[in-house]
Amino acid sequence: MRIARFAVGDEVRYGVVDAEAASGTESRNGAGAGGLTVAEIAGHPFGPAAEVALTGTRYPVDDVRLLAPVLPTKIVAIGRNYVEHAKELGNEPPAEPLIFLKPSTAVIGPADAIVRPDQLSKRVDFEGELAIVFGRLCKDVPPTRVPEVIFGYTCANDVTARDLQASDGQWARAKGFDTFCPLGPWIETDLDAADLRLTTTVNEEVKQDSRTSLLIYDIATMVSYVTAVMTILPGDVLLTGTPAGVGPLVAGDSVSVSIEGIGTLTNRVVDSS
Ligand code: MG
Repeated sequence: MRIARFAVGDEVRYGVVDAEAASGTESRNGAGAGGLTVAEIAGHPFGPAAEVALTGTRYPVDDVRLLAPVLPTKIVAIGRNYVEHAKELGNEPPAEPLIFLKPSTAVIGPADAIVRPDQLSKRVDFEGELAIVFGRLCKDVPPTRVPEVIFGYTCANDVTARDLQASDGQWARAKGFDTFCPLGPWIETDLDAADLRLTTTVNEEVKQDSRTSLLIYDIATMVSYVTAVMTILPGDVLLTGTPAGVGPLVAGDSVSVSIEGIGTLTNRVVDSS
């Protein structure tokens, strides 16, 4: 099931995205381009009784504005989790998972622009990543129970001010600017994420092309490691690391992260000044 968060005018809702209108539901304008429609959910899809009830209203995806599919309280991220990416930046693969945080205020959705803080950074990079979306409050999750706490997966771009990452030592500024965490286009809840193709394109030129099977620390290991440290809340997000091929973005670029079985997250790039 694909869970989207979207706006119709000023109203924000959750919905289930699928290829065609289900029988017995109201279809307002027929399907959008590609035949995708979104069936509105009553309430939200998170929480202990995570049963999805539909209101019966359905929109063509092209008629709504897709938002970030979730508003996490925090984004936990894993650094240097693909060998070839660690090497390309001159680093050794870490001896245990390397974790950092991005602020919740960095999150944007598919319709939003990545804003380069061009007065503060001369080098802003894309990092296409598989993102885990958690469905439950959890702490100290053993690897064997990790599937129980995962709600689904989405595409992420761990946008990074590479020059500030090097000069600061701490990564909070380099990873924490507003708009530096695009998420979307929706959450896929039925997916085995162990071996998915991940590609990142800039202006339709392929820059990253790898598979999640090449993660140094797999999903169960990462989640267990992170939840040994901090409590995860429903809707929190874990970025699993980027493969080789990272590079700079400039104003006017269009950057897309595509993951097999999920979809494509595309954002345009603008300068702040
Ligand atoms: Mg990253």
